[in-house]
Amino acid sequence: MSDQSTLSATACTPAPALPLTGQVWINGAFMPVEEASVNVLDHGLLYGDGCFEGIRVYGGRIFKLRSHLQRMHQSADLLHLKPRYSLEEIEAAVRQAVEVNKIEDGYVRVVYTRGIGTLGLNPFSCGTPQAIIIAATISLYPDSMYVEGMPIIVASRPRLPIQCLDPRIKSLNYLNNILAKVEAIEAGVLEALMINIDGEVAECTGDNVFLIKDGSITTPHTEAGILHGITRRFVIDEVAPALGMTITERAVHLDEVKNADEIFLTGTAAEVIGVSHIDGTPVGCGKVGAITSALNDEFRRRVQTDAPED
Ligand code: PMP
Repeated sequence: MSDQSTLSATACTPAPALPLTGQVWINGAFMPVEEASVNVLDHGLLYGDGCFEGIRVYGGRIFKLRSHLQRMHQSADLLHLKPRYSLEEIEAAVRQAVEVNKIEDGYVRVVYTRGIGTLGLNPFSCGTPQAIIIAATISLYPDSMYVEGMPIIVASRPRLPIQCLDPRIKSLNYLNNILAKVEAIEAGVLEALMINIDGEVAECTGDNVFLIKDGSITTPHTEAGILHGITRRFVIDEVAPALGMTITERAVHLDEVKNADEIFLTGTAAEVIGVSHIDGTPVGCGKVGAITSALNDEFRRRVQTDAPED
């Protein structure tokens, strides 16, 4: 006799179509995405115990691959998680995943989980950490937002203090950001600005933030408790200087953001995107400003012509 729970689960809830296709790399082997899964006792699933990276591919080149993998291994180190593979091995595997999936322009997700353990918290009860690479295409925000700007809100809950979780760890536990993202979506927008417990502006749920006032560009310093964004660094060190612009990293307060002429966000998936409104109030003229546009153009030109892989 069939088991009733199995019957009702399969009869009433058809599995949703997977939003991507292709081959996923897990611990050295490729398998179709439909078959790629983690064990229910993996502490990545049970506790969000692990770390990840999102990496872009532009014209077949893997943008800032080395920096991403170094950040990944720094995250693992800070979690006392010994990666299954060396930096060189995981780099070779990422290149292979991009090639196997024929990704010319896309996105790669690299995930390390703690591995299979007991139901208890002890991470050292786990076996070997797992390594996963998913290579896919991407579209985060609609194209029109890059022209018209993106409205955002200020999240009501603060960014997790650095004393509680080192923001250099890009961990699998994103609940602080997810709850802020929920606030954003419930308010009808796609991003939320997070303030730290000292009242300083930190970052958005998946992007770093910059503001422009009277031609000066500023971004919260890393002490504000932000992810040390790779796109942020690229914009500060390479994109802005190429346009003769300098960006200052310092403590930023919410009133400065609210009075800014322009605001833009940076991130691997978002790239450089202007903000049109905060909490319904226009930023500057409520459109993407001239400096943001120039930075966005220069960013795109650089990644699309010869994306640096360092
Ligand atoms: N902050 C947070 C919280 C992020 O998750 C991300 C990455 N999506 C960023 C900033 C941007 O970092 P990067 O430029 O390295 O993608």
